[in-house]
Amino acid sequence: MTQIAEPGTSRDEAPPAGRISHWINGRIVAGTSGREGPVYNPATGTVAKHVDFASVEEVAAAVAAAKTAFPTWRATSLSKRTEIMFRVRNLVEQHRKEIAALLTAEHGKVPSDALGEVARGLENLEFATGIPNLLKGGFTEQASTGVDVFQIRQPLGVVAGITPFNFPAMVPMWMFGNAIACGNTFVLKPSEKDPSASIFIAELLAEAGVPAGVFNVVHGDKVAVDAILDHPDIAAVSFVGSTPIARYIYETGTRNGKRVQALGGAKNHMIVLPDADIDMAADAAVSAGYGSSGERCMAVATVVAVGDVADPLVDAIRERLPKVKVGPGSDPEAEMGPLVTKQHRDKVASYLESGPAQGARVVADGREHPLYRESEGFYLGASLIDNVTPDMDCYRDEIFGPVLTVVRVKTYDEAVALVNDNPYGNGTAIFTRDGGAARQFQFEAQAGMVGINVPIPVPVAYYSFGGWKASLFGDLHMYGPEGIQFYTRAKVVTQRWPDPGTSKVDLGFPRTR
Ligand code: NAD
Repeated sequence: MTQIAEPGTSRDEAPPAGRISHWINGRIVAGTSGREGPVYNPATGTVAKHVDFASVEEVAAAVAAAKTAFPTWRATSLSKRTEIMFRVRNLVEQHRKEIAALLTAEHGKVPSDALGEVARGLENLEFATGIPNLLKGGFTEQASTGVDVFQIRQPLGVVAGITPFNFPAMVPMWMFGNAIACGNTFVLKPSEKDPSASIFIAELLAEAGVPAGVFNVVHGDKVAVDAILDHPDIAAVSFVGSTPIARYIYETGTRNGKRVQALGGAKNHMIVLPDADIDMAADAAVSAGYGSSGERCMAVATVVAVGDVADPLVDAIRERLPKVKVGPGSDPEAEMGPLVTKQHRDKVASYLESGPAQGARVVADGREHPLYRESEGFYLGASLIDNVTPDMDCYRDEIFGPVLTVVRVKTYDEAVALVNDNPYGNGTAIFTRDGGAARQFQFEAQAGMVGINVPIPVPVAYYSFGGWKASLFGDLHMYGPEGIQFYTRAKVVTQRWPDPGTSKVDLGFPRTR
């Protein structure tokens, strides 16, 4: 039987400096595959660490640990699991600055943004502390004479999470808090680009008393992902990342008999109606377009300017851009850090070539920023492209960087058609003073999350997060109530306790009530 560890036992097993290894069965396990990847400091452009890439066998070892831990964890009382989840929540809260520092070091996001990521992750852990209430089933007394019926929800077994680079702490917390609170055991495959936070969090979970094997981390690339998708002992997979990989995960995982929720990419439109407050809309577009250097799946990618709002709105956005302070996380005034890799920065910058070549107008060119030209870090200044049309690459592709595009349309109907014709359907927003227009938009927008005068409408943790169309493959959204549904399956029990001697053989179907 796996024992619940005493809090505070296993945080001294630090990995060797410069190497990030796996976390299997409650301890750090050095990789043996001979494969590894570089982890950059995006602010300097240098390789800061290396991360081990798991082999099929190493993934199997993590799954075996999780499978062994499952029966005991599943049988651990709800009150004990709740107590542990509270300790997990408190330790993450106590160590929020250290987690944020790891995010800044490997992702590049500035400390205020990194602390915001941890705060949103914490909300999900707080939700999971309510697990006794969340797992309450329904009970029907006297469904038939002397017969009661009730429903319970039980954990699935070993479940896996595969996560993207842009939220290395929060997105794992979207998944594992609910998953383990429900009684499952978990294998996380974080992004290989910024893997350190996952190991730090694994250590906190151990310190909180999460038993060995309940939470495991394997690093790596497609080899590790495919090993997860092929493993017969993994019951369910949660994925967050780009749309092509999300589709692949969904198709492969479901073909292998697993329950899958796979959240994909986005192209979020922010509609600004002519009656909107221009300053409020411009502040929102800049905050939501350039926050985290545009590397958020809920970032505003396209501003849709309706009617004569376009000229003053574009001017108001342009005026704000020189004030956006770009710099490393070590600069306390920096608001926007570098992008995650040079390859990604160069791809993002390429839209400043293709946009004007296809007829758009570059209003602000981030390549003119001194850090783009002089630093080895992966910087790009805030960029704005106006007069974009739906056939252009900068409209069609998910740019995922600090390049905001503006599409000009004449009417509300044209604006809504853009949102609804777009293959993605993650989030969308409308800025207006007209309640009727906003209500109509909420009614007809084909997206999973809608903001009304709110540019990044990420739901609070007691709702669930998910897009429509190519932004989500699967039936259930992530975290919140739908997360609990995803990580459990229903069982309905029908029972009676008749007195001895009252039964008889009856081959028919029940006819009377
Ligand atoms: P990505 O799809 O490249 O990687 C996500 C995960 O999949 C990583 O763990 C990676 O190692 C793995 N992976 C990558 N290529 C693979 C392959 N060929 N086969 C198997 N596994 C593979 O995404 P990313 O670049 O890390 O993250 C950015 C993307 O994630 C953007 O498209 C963004 O919109 C999306 N995202 C979506 C949400 C959402 O909630 N919908 C949230 C955050 C990020």
